[in-house]
Amino acid sequence: MDRKLMKGEEKFKTKCVHAGELVDKQYGGATSPIFMSTSYKFTDVEFNQYPRYFNTPNQIGLAKKIASLEGAEAGLIFSSGMSAISNALLSHLKSGDHVIFQNDLYGGTRNFIKKEFPKYGIEFGFTNGILVTDFENEIKANTKGIYIETPSNPTLKIVDLSSISELAKDKNIWTMIDNTFASPVNQNPIKYGIDIVLHSATKYLGGHSDICAGAVLGSKKRIKKIYNLAKNLGGSLSEMSVWLLERSIKTLFLRVQAQNENALKIAEFLDSESWISNVYYPGLNHHPNHNIAVKQMNGFGGMLSFELVPEIDSKKFLLNLNLIKPTMSLAGIESTALSPRLTSHALLTDDERVQQGINSQLIRFSTGIESFDDLKNDLLNTIRIIS
Ligand code: PLP
Repeated sequence: MDRKLMKGEEKFKTKCVHAGELVDKQYGGATSPIFMSTSYKFTDVEFNQYPRYFNTPNQIGLAKKIASLEGAEAGLIFSSGMSAISNALLSHLKSGDHVIFQNDLYGGTRNFIKKEFPKYGIEFGFTNGILVTDFENEIKANTKGIYIETPSNPTLKIVDLSSISELAKDKNIWTMIDNTFASPVNQNPIKYGIDIVLHSATKYLGGHSDICAGAVLGSKKRIKKIYNLAKNLGGSLSEMSVWLLERSIKTLFLRVQAQNENALKIAEFLDSESWISNVYYPGLNHHPNHNIAVKQMNGFGGMLSFELVPEIDSKKFLLNLNLIKPTMSLAGIESTALSPRLTSHALLTDDERVQQGINSQLIRFSTGIESFDDLKNDLLNTIRIIS
């Protein structure tokens, strides 16, 4: 598809560079100064500045920047995506509450729910599918919230944001979304009525595979609720990483646009190759949720998955790639590929993997910003070597 100009794109690009920046009053430098201090002059009992309280100058600036990209009132920056996710969930739940999770979920989130929620007496259920009726069917008298992930990891399923938020509002429950795969460039769930947006900033926000961080965005009221727990549990991000993340987000729009364009080309190329049995990418016309993706996304993202035909050994395939790196994480400017079966979703049971459509032939591909021709040649050479 030709790239459509997203609504408010020009403003978004400027926000990536300038929102939340700190002014260097001392020397007039062009970039935000970094304040490493862990101890600040006392001014107000309500506002003691301290890194674990998420309120040092750089932490506040970065939270403003990411909140502005998501169209949120407020935000908090954490030391990992899981720290953001666990603090957001635990602050909104107590013993006896019930929460509904989309079945297709990042493996670490699923593991957290299954291992930790029973200790706190929090009930949970997973949907059978991704339709709004699948969520509605799971609602109980004690249900407090719905948690979704779209596009989902690793099979890129798309959940209809407006329908989910309408259902939740009707039932008077909250909604949370893991927006990591889309990034704020491609999807802004608050616009569709979702209450809380979560990011593993380790991925697109950081974008260079060298920062581990997380973010939570939402209304001031909800962020305060999360803050009240997070200041006790800990999990804020250190100043150096905060500064580096702010620096990285300046190029977020450019990076993600390049990744979107490459991903669509790779998906279309793979779709016509005989050694591939399936391609999962919301930008393809035959993707089952393509129309919903067109409705709610500004771009289809840099992530795709594909299944190798049974004759190809997927591990051999990964280990023979040359330019594309067979590494765990995703969303960096370098292209990477992995087997969800062996890595990101290794902690799931066999049944859970089958339910999510994860088999040993599935490869998750994170598109970087390299030349499409070089990526295509790497894939074709690999097939030649191992066939
Ligand atoms: N959400 C998604 C979709 C992820 O892919 C990941 C990590 O891979 C996380 C959350 C957890 O983020 P982190 O590793 O930064 O804790």
